[in-house]
Amino acid sequence: MILVGNGRLITRDDANSIIEDGCLAIQDNLIVETGTTDDLKTKYPQARLIDAAQKMIMPGLINTHMHFYSTFARGMASKSDPPTNFLEILERLWWKLDKTLTLEDVYYSALIPIVDCIKTGTTTIFDHHASPNVVHGSLFKIAEATLKAGVRSCLCYEVSDRDGKATADNGIQENIDFINFCNQESNPLLKGMFGLHASLTLSDQTLEKCVAKNSGTGVGFHVHAAEGIQDRLDAEKKYGMGVVERLYERQILGEKSIAVHCVHISKKEIGILKDSKTNVVHNPESNMGNAVGVSPVLEMAHQGVTIGLGTDGYTSDMFESFKAANCLHKHAHQHPSVAWGEIPQMLFENNRKIAAHYFEKPLGQLVPGAYADVIVVDYDPPTRLEPENVNSHILFGISGRSVETTIINGRVVMENRKLTTLDEQEICVKSRELADKVWQRIE
Ligand SMILES: [Zn+2]
Repeated sequence: MILVGNGRLITRDDANSIIEDGCLAIQDNLIVETGTTDDLKTKYPQARLIDAAQKMIMPGLINTHMHFYSTFARGMASKSDPPTNFLEILERLWWKLDKTLTLEDVYYSALIPIVDCIKTGTTTIFDHHASPNVVHGSLFKIAEATLKAGVRSCLCYEVSDRDGKATADNGIQENIDFINFCNQESNPLLKGMFGLHASLTLSDQTLEKCVAKNSGTGVGFHVHAAEGIQDRLDAEKKYGMGVVERLYERQILGEKSIAVHCVHISKKEIGILKDSKTNVVHNPESNMGNAVGVSPVLEMAHQGVTIGLGTDGYTSDMFESFKAANCLHKHAHQHPSVAWGEIPQMLFENNRKIAAHYFEKPLGQLVPGAYADVIVVDYDPPTRLEPENVNSHILFGISGRSVETTIINGRVVMENRKLTTLDEQEICVKSRELADKVWQRIE
């Protein structure tokens, strides 16, 4: 048994309780009790105590949209003309990078952001993967990395017609093989979804095949939706409707599915997302960096759509995504008083609701019965800390690098900034070596 105590315990339970001098008890991979440090130390005298030294003890964060495979793009010089729109970003960067990846590249591309996730307090990651020349086994390779690191993940392969029918079929098979494997294994750290790239690279025939193959697996689809205007124009031209309308008609949406971005959607499509209980994931930095426009997340939230928060590979740090989302919507609305409630709701409430469709026990809350995914954060509040203002303390006072200790599924994967499962230096040396070769192979 482990106790994590002597800290301010931010429980995120239904009352959003904060326990001063709080402590939690971990048995195996679950939280079994929360209370004060004295009480739990008396009750469990044999337990090892991780001393939070008056810092904050919080639930580990969840990232509901990530691309591990984007790692080797960092610092890469493009051999093409600079992109002028989102489609050109795909064509000139991502669809060149993903084709060069080997399985070893896939593995190290995953380990690098996983190190970052652990160091910045993200304990559960929904990843969306592409490596068209090594589709078979790619999700299993990523799983090797996530399990070695000890992070919780839900993986998928992005099926697309952009590289021909055989590659699309390989993608379908990889999703199914991996989902079946996860269903058999029942490993609380590893789940699968059915990945799809985006409407503009998927024919009706391929979507139909995906739906047929996915039937009975119990998992939903993870798909980019109306990210750039090109996706919407393509759907309107080819099918006479918006992207969300099309995905709904093709039976891709639903309460277990994730529609990422939803920037270029109509009011009618917001209604579809709500009625079909589809989860939307917002990625503020990526949307700004790719200059795709502003997702109407506030309007969707007010209509009752469940919107989670992701990073889209732009960063691994959910605190950073949280800060960017807060500023983006105030800036876009030219109103300093909007988005105070909706953005924390994405990160702290909706991400765990989305995760609950895949993981058996509660996540994102420090309550008895939840998975023991816990972070200790170096933060001593300079003003009064209360349930009503805790999100503002986090927004303005904490960054990913404030995280000192990370526990996932009851296992300490970082203690006082030292990783216990991975050798960061060795991973970086190998990553640079592989990235050099990838850069040489890119045309
Ligand atoms: Zn994405």
